[in-house]
Amino acid sequence: MKETLQFLVELQELEDSLRSLTQMRKRRESLEIENAETLEFFETMLTEREAALSEVSTFCKEKNSEIEEAEGNARRARSRLSQIKSQRELTALNKELDTARRTNLARSEELAKLTEQLEASQTDYEKKKAEHAALVEAMADTQKALTESIDAAEVAANDQRTRQVEIKKQVDRTLVSRFERILRGRDGSAVVLMNNETCSACRMNVSPQVYIRLQRMETIENCDHCKRLLVFRAVLEESTSA
Ligand SMILES: [Zn+2]
Repeated sequence: MKETLQFLVELQELEDSLRSLTQMRKRRESLEIENAETLEFFETMLTEREAALSEVSTFCKEKNSEIEEAEGNARRARSRLSQIKSQRELTALNKELDTARRTNLARSEELAKLTEQLEASQTDYEKKKAEHAALVEAMADTQKALTESIDAAEVAANDQRTRQVEIKKQVDRTLVSRFERILRGRDGSAVVLMNNETCSACRMNVSPQVYIRLQRMETIENCDHCKRLLVFRAVLEESTSA
């Protein structure tokens, strides 16, 4: 009987191990999708910022050439000063120069603001770019670690499946069917290791009769509530070391 109970516990451990492999595979799959979505979102944002940056940069250049052009005009106007023949022409020219000065002052202020904005945006963009690189690296690390765990579990899985077959040959056929039925019905958990009268799977107390029989370890017991197969840990460990 003790051997059968040990087999049951081992069968459950094998199931847990194989199930964890399946879960890791699923996690990797969903992680890949999630990561791709996150990166796509991030990269779209970066592209938008790049476009905004280049727009501001173009605007700055335009402003700059406007200023240069106006300065050229002012220089030419000033060179005409020597050819002025009348007070009227002088007044007109001064007015022209004055307007040019004011326009350029306004443009220079605009340019200063734009340049400031451009620098701030550039700094922010560089920061986001670094965040993106760090994210890509972190994602790769996580995926690498997960893949390593999966690879190791896959190697172990072959032996585990062989062991399952071996054990099932040695355990009573009816008990194997019972184990498999509970396994399907209880989400992959058919055997419960008990430390006291509480079923550690469903958290309910088993009846006193079951509890007594459990400790005697002469029969295969079910939890009264979740119907999982019960094994009393202390007695089992005692028998293992003996
Ligand atoms: Zn239970």
